[in-house]
Amino acid sequence: MAMNNIQDKDNAMLDTLQRPVRDLRISVIDACNFRCSYCMPIEKYPDYYEFMHKGERLSFEQITRIARQFVALGAVKIRLTGGEPLLRRDLPELICQLRGIAGLEDLNLTTNGYWLAEHAAALRQAGLDRVNLSLDSLDDAVFHRITGRSNGGVERILDGLRAAHEAGFKPIKVNVVVQRGVNDEGLLEMVEFFRHTGHILRFIEYMDVGNLNEWEQDEVVPYHEIVDRIAEVHPIEAVPPNYKGEVARRFRLADGSAELGFVSSVSKPFCGDCHRARLSADGKLYTCLFASNGHDLRQLLQDGASDDELHTAIAGIWQGRGDRYSELRAKHRIDTDADPKVEMFAIGG
Ligand code: SAM
Ligand code: SF4
Ligand code: SF4
Repeated sequence: MAMNNIQDKDNAMLDTLQRPVRDLRISVIDACNFRCSYCMPIEKYPDYYEFMHKGERLSFEQITRIARQFVALGAVKIRLTGGEPLLRRDLPELICQLRGIAGLEDLNLTTNGYWLAEHAAALRQAGLDRVNLSLDSLDDAVFHRITGRSNGGVERILDGLRAAHEAGFKPIKVNVVVQRGVNDEGLLEMVEFFRHTGHILRFIEYMDVGNLNEWEQDEVVPYHEIVDRIAEVHPIEAVPPNYKGEVARRFRLADGSAELGFVSSVSKPFCGDCHRARLSADGKLYTCLFASNGHDLRQLLQDGASDDELHTAIAGIWQGRGDRYSELRAKHRIDTDADPKVEMFAIGG
């Protein structure tokens, strides 16, 4: 086989657009206690909605086997996500198993924070490197409106943030999905609140993921508009990326009191630098956030595939990858109505 045309100078495996795999996102469960309007709207996912059964999920051993092959193929980062990952029982056990993979540089988790205060210390002890927390507003009424829940307010999430900080997670990235007319009025308040805390606020453009959030382009607040709004109050300056292909554009307040990130997937797509693969809780491998179909790795494992066979299968899927949905969206060349996309809570962002 002509290996040279599928490997870059670091000997990593490349897809059809010459992108190596660097980052594996693992959804450990599809269920969630929240019903965020942009992800799992309450009208479509009522409380009695049946999520995946326990027996349909990959076991920790199966997840670790798959993750090990990804690391062998060039991945250096793993993010655990969901649904809400802290709903998966015994998660620290999975973290210990993943931590044992030689070559894995960064193991992190994205959570809505509802149970973070309870679990932060155990996650840290198990070997988790970093935590990202999702919080879209400091205002209880807005928070309840977005999350579709009225039990537990912002203070509970902030308790989780404090517990994670005390457990040794630093810096913590606080992800804010920005929707015009929903939470954008509160963004400056968030900047003020997080100054001098060491946490990094990351503003994420509201995306047309899944099929159910009735996304409209005019609800997106482009990242440069947020930068301009902040600049009216605080001098702000761009910061170079930490590494090539970093998703968030980095800025900081000029007085050094805060670092900010902007994920501009809609206004400035970054498919050319997309090195991410996504594994759903039932073992489907997706090569794009906007994909319609996943590749069934769980079936492969159930059929008794060896590690070598698993390796070859994953390599083949990645090498066939040509996804660049966001770039095509920007050119108005997409029509996915006929072919529904995977939902965000199934692959975890
Ligand atoms: N439940 C966890 C949480 O909310 O942090 C992890 C899973 S959630 C799907 C991962 C991230 O995706 C969250 O930060 C969430 O805000 C983001 N997200 C979900 N739907 C989105 C959308 N339509 N546009 C942009 N970000 C979205
Ligand atoms: Fe749950 Fe996260 Fe989706 Fe909100 S964004 S509904 S917290 S999975
Ligand atoms: Fe990656 Fe797909 Fe997003 Fe482009 S649209 S950045 S290929 S996940």
